[in-house]
Parts: sequence; structure tokens; C-alpha cells
Amino acid sequence: MDAGTKLIGIFGHPVHHSLSPLFMNEALKSLGINCAYLAFDVEGGRLDGAVRALKTLGWVGSNVTIPHKQAAAALVDSLSEDAAAIGAVNCIVNRGGSLVGHNTDHLGFVDPLRERGLALEGSTVALIGCGGAARGVLYALAKEKAAKVNLINRTEKNAREFIAWAGESLGYRTIDYVGGCGGTGGNAALRKAVGEARLVVNTTPVGMHPQEGSSPIPRGIAFHEGAFAYDIIYSPFKTEFLRSAVLGGAAALNGLPMLIHQGLHSLALWFPERGPEIFALRAKILRLAAGALGEPSEPGEPGEPGSCPLGTKGCIFLIGFMGSGKTTVGKILARRLGASFFDTDSLVEERAGMPVAELFATRGEGTFREMERDLLRELSTQSRKRGSRPALVIATGGGLPCSAENLSIMKETGTVVYLRAAVDDLIRRVENEKSRPLIRKLAEGGDLREGIAKLLADRERFYLQADLVVANGLDARPLDAVSRILEKLEMPGGKG
Ligand code: NAP
Repeated sequence: MDAGTKLIGIFGHPVHHSLSPLFMNEALKSLGINCAYLAFDVEGGRLDGAVRALKTLGWVGSNVTIPHKQAAAALVDSLSEDAAAIGAVNCIVNRGGSLVGHNTDHLGFVDPLRERGLALEGSTVALIGCGGAARGVLYALAKEKAAKVNLINRTEKNAREFIAWAGESLGYRTIDYVGGCGGTGGNAALRKAVGEARLVVNTTPVGMHPQEGSSPIPRGIAFHEGAFAYDIIYSPFKTEFLRSAVLGGAAALNGLPMLIHQGLHSLALWFPERGPEIFALRAKILRLAAGALGEPSEPGEPGEPGSCPLGTKGCIFLIGFMGSGKTTVGKILARRLGASFFDTDSLVEERAGMPVAELFATRGEGTFREMERDLLRELSTQSRKRGSRPALVIATGGGLPCSAENLSIMKETGTVVYLRAAVDDLIRRVENEKSRPLIRKLAEGGDLREGIAKLLADRERFYLQADLVVANGLDARPLDAVSRILEKLEMPGGKG
């Protein structure tokens, strides 16, 4: 910074969590522009003064974020066509003392869909939520000529007002209110709206802090073949909505690329002469922001943050004894493939509403095994419908493959990989996990080593029927097992 450094701000409240200063400053540095991008926590009554300061101090401009986007539209000297139609401003440009309000959110929303080859023209979309962000999303859908929008929203009155606004301000009238989320299984109208949509977009904050683990639509709803589930939330990276959408047969996209793209479009408005260079920074900036969210992506990794790549078929099932490293290896593998990771024990726990140990104690092992099998059948049905859909990596419970029926379902559905480890290695990994019902049972029998060795020998009759056996003892790193799996499956990221 020196006496010639220009300034750009972001006005919001609260704004301390914003990722924008991090990636916008990196972009400015990469472009060699002597300009600093700073966050300002501006409470409601002070927005007017903050906007005036842009002129007084000769700033390049500012971004505007929650909750000021609508109010900012009334404070600038003129509005772009987009900002006027949406009624909200997220980017202000200081053109020689005259402030022009723009909206780049709708561009940020649509770019990642275009990049993934999704043409919206003529398509049916399910839109969840009708708040401020949904206005920009609907504007983009109308511009892209989506044929029909089915609106899902908790409060009917707000939905009706949104539909009236869409007709009056955008001239978009092929939008209907479907209802709210409709209880545990979702009502028939909701299932139909999601099931026939090419794109299902969540614009509600449901799924982000403090509602992590909640989804705006019930789990278990089937998505249309080839559908995209788009959550404009980017933290957490994979919301419950995206997780259940992937299980329901959709490809997932989170809100991080949208955030980055609205920022790049803002930069292009402030520095129009640098446009092509600005958009060339996209991958670098996306990686930086993903890393800041704790989701680093490695160079050469297929796909990119926020997206499951299309084209990887079916599921990879990781089987093996407890302590064989299925969860650790599975998470890394899923990341390498840009796939979603699931763990059958966790899914059963979610459904049962209790930990596995409690399920065993209160409802017996038989109920647990039945729930495992039903889950496997569901995954298999979804996977068959999916064709060239994103891969799922599924770590199974240790006893799940020990049934001819389960094994054959898995082999029909995808590739079964046995992570093999010696008895002593397994013991070292699990001996302190006394809360696991099986460990408790084996330890109660007296000799834990003998108990594990006997059970492993019994289970290996099934495990060794896997398509692939990969060693994952204590002498190997989980990354080595991942590389060997990719190599043997001839997927990118293997050594071969
Ligand atoms: P907003 O105006 O507060 O959104 C309100 C909408 O969410 C309404 O439809 C509301 O339904 C619904 N909603 C809120 N809480 C709900 C709940 N507990 N259950 C069901 N529905 C609920 O917020 P916004 O400004 O539109 O932002 C929405 C989300 O988009 C935020 O998470 C924000 O971070 C994200 N966003 C992301 C980007 C990006 O670049 N990726 C850009 C902008 C916004 P009712 O009508 O029933 O109240």
C-alpha cells in the first residue's frame, strides 16, 4: 500500500465472516492493481453514510451484502437494468463521482451452470425459498428462458408476493406455488416438483449455521434423471440438501462458484479493461476460497471444489473389518473423485435416530441388519437410475458384506473394494473403542485378539469376493491405499 493505493469496500452486517476480502485481494494482487479491498461492518442506519463516503473519498466502488442489498438500490445515483429489475444492488461502481448500482449475483449464479453444460432454456426448475437471493436467481432463470418454475416455500404469503413481483417486474408468469416442504416424506406436489425438475435450487439459509444437518426438503425424494441440485450456501461445503440430493440421484453444486463469479463480475465492472485477465483467475481463486473453508483441492484433482464431476459411474463400496480404514480412505478417495462420501453406519444411525450401540441394545442386531439391507437396496436403485452420474464412495459396516444378498447387490451396483489389514493392525486401531458393540462383545469373551482373528477368518469368506483387494495395514498411509485403488480402477489420480 502506498499513497496511490485505491480502495474498494464491502458493506454488510455482520461481515467479519466474509470470504470476499481474502479472494478479492488475491485477485487484485495477481492483476497487479494497486488497490485494497476491505470489509466494513455497517449497521442499518449507517449505510447512507457509507455509500456517500465512496464519493467523498474517491473509492473505486464497493460490494454490498446481507442485509443491505435492497436498501443500497435506493442510495445510488443510477441503476443498471439488472439491478433495477431485481431491486437489489451488490456492486456499486464510482464513475467519476456518480454511483452506479449493479447486480452481479445473477451472473454468479448462472455461470457455474453454463460451465457444467446445463442449458436452462425450456427447462423446468424447482426453486426453494423466495427471499432476497431468490430474486436474483429467478431473474437469471427468466433471462435463461427456463420454461417453468415451481416454487417451494415455507410461508405461502411470501411466495404469493414473490410470484406477483416476478410477473410485474420481470414479466415472468410461468411460476406456481407448490407449497412448503410437506412433512417427513414430502407431499405429493413437492415430490412431483422435485422429481420433474432439471434443476433444484435451494436459496434458503436452511443447512448453514446454526441449522447444519437440516435440509429444506425431506430426505429420500427422487430427482429427475440428469438433474442438478444447486445449493447457494457454500459453508458447509456439502449441505444436508446436497447430500440427500446426491442420494436421490442428482449432481451437486454448492454456492462457492457463485460467490467467486459474482466477485469476478464485480471486478470486471470496476476494471473493464482487464476483463479477460480477471476471468482467467477463476480456478486459482476458487481453490484459494475452498482452502479457506477447509476444503483444499489438490492440483490435478478431477472436478473442482463445489462440484461433483459428471462422468464417473456408479458406486465404490469399501468393505472390511472395523479398523481397516474404510472411513479415512473413503473420504480421501471421494475427494479425489469429486464424489460424495457416505458411511452406512452413519446413515443407519440417522434413520434410527440413535447410535448403533443403542440400536443394538434396544432393538437388536436383527433390526440393524434389516436397516442396512434396506439402505443398500435404496442406494442400488438410485445408482442404477443414474447412468453417467457422479460417483458415490460408500464405506460399509463391517458385517454388511457378510450376506450373499448384500454382496451381490453391491457388485451389481458398483465396484467392491476390500481394505485388508492384519489382525494385529486391526487390534491396534480399535482396541480403545470399547463403545463399539462388537469390540465390547469380543473383549467380554476374554481374549480380544483371538475373538477378532476368529471373526475375521469367518468374514473373509465374504470380503475376499470383492472386485479388488487393497492392503491397508499400519505400514501404509491411507493415501497409498487411495492411489492403489485409483490405479487399479484406471481412474485419474492413480500412479499408473
Ligand atoms: P433471506 O432473504 O433471509 O431468505 C429467506 C428465505 O428463506 C425465505 O424464502 C424463507 O422462507 C426461507 N427460510 C428462512 N429460514 C427458513 C427455515 N428455517 N425453514 C424454511 N425456510 C426458511 O436470505 P437471502 O438473502 O435470500 O439468502 C439466502 C441464502 O443464500 C443465505 O444462506 C445466503 O448466505 C445465501 N447466498 C449465497 C450467495 C452466494 O454467492 N453463494 C449469494 C447470496 C445469498 P419464509 O418465506 O417462509 O420466511
